Amino acid sequence: MIRIHCPICGQRSETEFSYYGDATVKRPDEHETDPALWVDYVFTRDNPRGWHREYWHHVQGCRQWLVLERNTLTHEVSACHLASEASS
Ligand SMILES: [Zn+2]
Repeated sequence: MIRIHCPICGQRSETEFSYYGDATVKRPDEHETDPALWVDYVFTRDNPRGWHREYWHHVQGCRQWLVLERNTLTHEVSACHLASEASS
């Protein structure tokens, strides 16, 4: 079980959160017309082994969006910030 330290609520079980994906993906410019860039943005994701930066939503708590640094092998969480405050 993953324990996540929410900046608002404190230490909580992962069951209170929903995973929302890779926090390193950058949206193309709104005027970008190359469909390949949009397909890549919408559908292509890495499957990293090790540390990964991810979006999580505290659905059963404060309902804040969070950015976690999580190790995909050990599920260790090294950092958790509000998405509104996390640097990209
Ligand atoms: Zn929370």
